[in-house]
Amino acid sequence: MKAIVATPERRADVVEKEIRPLKHGEALLKMICCGVCHTDLHVKNADFGDVSGIVLGHEGIGEVIEVADDVTSLKVGDRSSVAWFFEGCGHCEYCTTGRETLCREVKNAGYTADGGMAEYCIVTADYSVKVPEGLDSAPASSITCAGVTCYKAIKEANLIPGQWIVISGLGGLGNLAVQYAKKVFNLKVIGVDINEKQLEFAKESGADLVINPLNEDVEAVIQEKVGGAHGAVVTAVARTAFNQAVGSVRAGATIVAVGLPPESMDLSIPRLVLDGISVKGSLVGTRQDLAEAFQAGAEGKVVPTCQLRPMEDIEDIFEEMEQGKIKGRMVIEF
Ligand code: NAD
Ligand code: ZN
Ligand code: ZN
Repeated sequence: MKAIVATPERRADVVEKEIRPLKHGEALLKMICCGVCHTDLHVKNADFGDVSGIVLGHEGIGEVIEVADDVTSLKVGDRSSVAWFFEGCGHCEYCTTGRETLCREVKNAGYTADGGMAEYCIVTADYSVKVPEGLDSAPASSITCAGVTCYKAIKEANLIPGQWIVISGLGGLGNLAVQYAKKVFNLKVIGVDINEKQLEFAKESGADLVINPLNEDVEAVIQEKVGGAHGAVVTAVARTAFNQAVGSVRAGATIVAVGLPPESMDLSIPRLVLDGISVKGSLVGTRQDLAEAFQAGAEGKVVPTCQLRPMEDIEDIFEEMEQGKIKGRMVIEF
């Protein structure tokens, strides 16, 4: 089969690869499509260490064409996902308390397990979440990482309808965060991005207010217009965005960190303590979160914008991503 693998030279190459026979508990997917997430770019660039040889991709949707004898959760003909949370141990303190993405034995698709950017992919059946009827495969692929990550991050901010949330970074993740915040959580949304096109897109997606940090003082505008936001989700790949979030929220707010610039953020201890600010990291979502995030897509509340591309375009897609030229998600079609 053809597969996109990370190379030691930090490229993503289309190569020929063998697919092995199934083991107990596994299913074989014939891949339909797989979205390209900024995390794939981090992995290819070895931002989290060298994993060359691995098949990239964790926004995969495929059709089940074979299951091992003992599999009951999937059957031939189902459409199912290849997600970053590929498999947990199933018995640790995280796996048994609804925090399975933090499992210390976790496997991640496209990072520590072969992922979805290939013509076929083997998944651990009980960890692959079925796509509901009424949700097409391309939008489902975007929800498999971008959508569920934003849905979960907004949940982690613990807001109630009508409150203000800042979504900083309005790319592949952020534009879906705007939609989940508006349509699922009934929040008021402030979108922040350095790219005017992304701000336009966020407005189309329902943002109540948009701000470009290159033209305006984000913190001052938000404090003046709404008295500080009740929460923030930062997907931007820039430490300045994390620092601005600290200055954009009101006392008692939660800042949820999602973007992964390999840097540190600043938070003064008096700001943290005297204003009761919470800062949380949020990593993708559990299988249940993904089922809920898919459901919002199936009901038409969240509509991902996707463009289908061939495998051979992968390096071009990464370049476009680095240059901020992508609207929504680029999705590899097999
Ligand atoms: P993307 O490239 O599609 O979007 C990033 C956006 O950030 C762009 O619109 C860009 O213009 C904007 N941006 C850059 N600098 C900014 C700044 N200073 N202020 C405001 N906006 C700024 O990337 P993506 O696919 O949406 O991924 C975003 C990040 O989230 C990546 O680091 C990715 O690895 C990470 N991620 C994390 C999780 C998780 O579970 N925590 C899941 C998926 C992706
Ligand atoms: Zn991702
Ligand atoms: Zn575990």
